[in-house]
Amino acid sequence: MAEKKVLLTGDRPTGKLHIGHYVGSLKTRVAMQNSGLYDPYIMVADKQAFTDNARNPEKIQNSLLEVVLDYLAVGIDPKKTTIFVQSAVPELSELTEYFLNLVSIARVQRNPTVKAEIQQKGFGESIPTGFFIYPVSQAADIALFKGQVVPVGDDQEPMLEQTRELVRTFNRYYNTDILVEPEGIFPPKGQGRIPGLDGNAKMSKSLNNAIYLSDDEDTLWEKVKSMYTDPTHVRVTDPGHVEGNMVFTYLDIFDEDKAQVADLKAQYQAGGLGDMKIKKYLFEVLNKELAPIRERRAHYAEDRDAVLQIVKEGSEKARVIGQQTMAEVRHAMGVDYW
Ligand code: ATP
Ligand code: MG
Repeated sequence: MAEKKVLLTGDRPTGKLHIGHYVGSLKTRVAMQNSGLYDPYIMVADKQAFTDNARNPEKIQNSLLEVVLDYLAVGIDPKKTTIFVQSAVPELSELTEYFLNLVSIARVQRNPTVKAEIQQKGFGESIPTGFFIYPVSQAADIALFKGQVVPVGDDQEPMLEQTRELVRTFNRYYNTDILVEPEGIFPPKGQGRIPGLDGNAKMSKSLNNAIYLSDDEDTLWEKVKSMYTDPTHVRVTDPGHVEGNMVFTYLDIFDEDKAQVADLKAQYQAGGLGDMKIKKYLFEVLNKELAPIRERRAHYAEDRDAVLQIVKEGSEKARVIGQQTMAEVRHAMGVDYW
């Protein structure tokens, strides 16, 4: 049998995970984990979270467990997938430092995702240096584990490109082939960047516009009820617009019954279908998917120590791999003096 490919991906502990993460990345991870074709590693990127939350350590600390509970709830199985914490593998920082010498400031500046995030976060002239260079540290995360496949949302494409460049440069400068170029695995078209409830281009845990996997039924209904539809659709009989209408955007993504969605769209456009009706329908679709996740999450949340133990064991295993690769890196660079 062919050797299993190393799968590496992760999330920042900046809040609970949402349905954007679910379709954008988690679903694919679970399917890949269960295929038996991969050796999966999932990293909770706490150090990366500090790059724009340096003053908010409690948020990062609290989110760590929440994120791991979300993993377990969607079906990540710690017997098959190694879940670990970034800060528990200090070798990642060491490789980052060496990688920083292989890339120019101008190249780092060209990353469109980071550009958009800098705008969004309103850093102005005060961009934290760690934030500015986080794609380089992310490249080190992937490279240290020799990640071959990286299932992520569309916003991560520039990070993968940057990682491949850094790996190539490293291998060329130090005349080696120890580091591996990763391949990004992206969600099906239209599911790689789920928009926020507010119509913002991206649902994000830092933007307060998300439906969380852990939201209870009431919260889910409140969020769906408040969703942006079509301001010109005043009376039920008025013809409505489906483009830019968040309810239909979400139905397109989450409802597997495509014929039904097409039918509802036609009715809505013709007039005669009320906003409350389509919102109720969307609620049912989402709730059907989220109810079992919510139940499993509540089960795991009963024993938080057991969850922390999973992460501790995963981190110990990850550290060993990090140390092995770092020994190879130092050897390739000639910094293993004795
Ligand atoms: P933050 O606002 O703190 O950056 P985030 O919501 O962007 O949080 P990350 O931890 O940065 O979440 O991203 C984790 C993974 O989820 C990445 O693979 C990313 O591409 C994917 N992802 C994040 N938001 C979405 C979204 N709205 N739609 C699809 N995928 C997403
Ligand atoms: Mg993000």
